[in-house]
Amino acid sequence: MNSDAVLLVETVDFAARKHRKQRRKDEEGTPYINHPIGVARILSHEGGVTDIETLQAALLHDTLEDTDTKPEELETKFGAIVARIVREVTDDKSLPKQERKRLQVEHAPHCSRQAKLVKLADKLYNLRDLNRCTPVGWTAERVQQYFVWASEVVKGLKGTNSTLEDKLEELFKQRGVQL
Ligand code: NDP
Ligand code: ZN
Repeated sequence: MNSDAVLLVETVDFAARKHRKQRRKDEEGTPYINHPIGVARILSHEGGVTDIETLQAALLHDTLEDTDTKPEELETKFGAIVARIVREVTDDKSLPKQERKRLQVEHAPHCSRQAKLVKLADKLYNLRDLNRCTPVGWTAERVQQYFVWASEVVKGLKGTNSTLEDKLEELFKQRGVQL
C-alpha cells in the first residue's frame, strides 16, 4: 500500500472506534460512521477531491463535536493541518443550539478552502439523508427549516467546488429554497 492509503485506513479506523456507540437519527438507527465515510466519498467520488488532508478531515469531522476526542489527540495522530480543519468544522457545544446555527452561517465564508469542502459535503450528505427519510420525531416543517438554514450556510461556501455546489443548488430548488 502507498502511504496515503495507509493513512486513510488509520483514519477511518480511528473514526469508527470513536463513533462505535452512535447511531444516526433515522428510523433504522444507521451506524453513525456511515456518515463521515459518506462525506469523504462525496468529496473523492463526486467532488474530485484527492487532497489527503481534506479526505482525512472529512472522516474525522464529527469526532470533536460528538465524541470524547480532544484536538491534541487529532494533532498528535494526524498532524496540525488535519486537526485544524476538523476544529474549523466543529461547533462550540457550550453555546445554545440556535446560537451555534447562527455562528455556522457567520463563520462559513471565513473558513479555509479545505474546511469549506468538508462543510459542503457534510451538508450535501445530510440533505440527501433528509430526503431519504425523516429523522425520528421531526415534522415536515422542521425538515424544511433545516433546508433553509443549510442554504444560508452554503451561500457562504460558494466558489469552492462547482460540482458539489450545483448538486446542493438542485436540492434547494426542489424545496423552493433560493441559493
Ligand atoms: P439539528 O436540527 O441540527 O439536527 C440535524 C443534524 O443531525 C444534522 O446536521 C446531522 O449532523 C445530524 N443527523 C443525524 N442523523 C441525521 C439524519 N438521518 N438526517 C439528517 N441529519 C442527521 O440538531 P438537533 O436535532 O440537535 O436540533 C437543534 C435545532 O433544531 C435547534 O436549533 C432547535 O431550535 C431546532 N428544533 C426545531 C424543532 C422544530 O420542530 N422546528 C424542534 C426541535 C428543535 P451531523 O452532520 O453532525 O451528523
Ligand atoms: Zn457531519
